[in-house]
Amino acid sequence: MSKAPAADQTRLLKVQEIDSRIDRAQHQREALPEAQRLAETREQLAHAEDAAATAHAELGDVQRDLTRIEDEIEKVKARQERDQTRLDSGMGQAKELQALSSELEALKKRLSELEDKALEVMERVEEAEHKSEAAQAAAQSLREQAGAQSAEVELTYDRLDKEMAAAKLERATAQDGLDEKLMALYERVRAKSGGIGAAPLRSGRCEGCHLAINPGDMSKIRQAAPDDVIRCEECGRILVRDEESGL
Ligand SMILES: [Zn+2]
Repeated sequence: MSKAPAADQTRLLKVQEIDSRIDRAQHQREALPEAQRLAETREQLAHAEDAAATAHAELGDVQRDLTRIEDEIEKVKARQERDQTRLDSGMGQAKELQALSSELEALKKRLSELEDKALEVMERVEEAEHKSEAAQAAAQSLREQAGAQSAEVELTYDRLDKEMAAAKLERATAQDGLDEKLMALYERVRAKSGGIGAAPLRSGRCEGCHLAINPGDMSKIRQAAPDDVIRCEECGRILVRDEESGL
């Protein structure tokens, strides 16, 4: 059985309390609900930005369609004007004038078709504009939400980091001059026992595993010297006796 001054064993409980506090803050930092929400918002934002880019591209497509139709309308009108001028001049053979006249008929029909088409595409442009604006607005709203959530997360990280830094200073004082072998044993047990290396003995129970200590072991504990380092038979943790142990 290893030995360590009884006072050091009692002080070890303070070290354990501080270590548990550091562990809790560390765990909180790693599993922050705000960070989880931020990650979700960022994922939604990525989707919203994709949707906005797609809507913007679709708007560009229909705008180009409309421009093409409008250009064609301009060409048809120019040709109509040229034909009309020639026809109005009355110069040329009857056959030519006849051809101009039928071309003007065809152009008129073509223009009417193009104008119908332009109206239809204008409606699609309007729809695409609304869709694109809505998608941009949705992305912007998520961007703002992510910004606010990110600030919240940073604040919480900051608070936890300060708590941890303060606890680490406190720990340095708490373990200063503590029996080295006892500390080494504590660290070893703590590493494999879920962060709890030392626990007090309270009313016949180990506060590490919360199991009752059998009467045989209790009587051994009662007979042990104050500087004997007792280990819980159930969980292997360092079992610290103090005035509240009721021995
Ligand atoms: Zn135990």
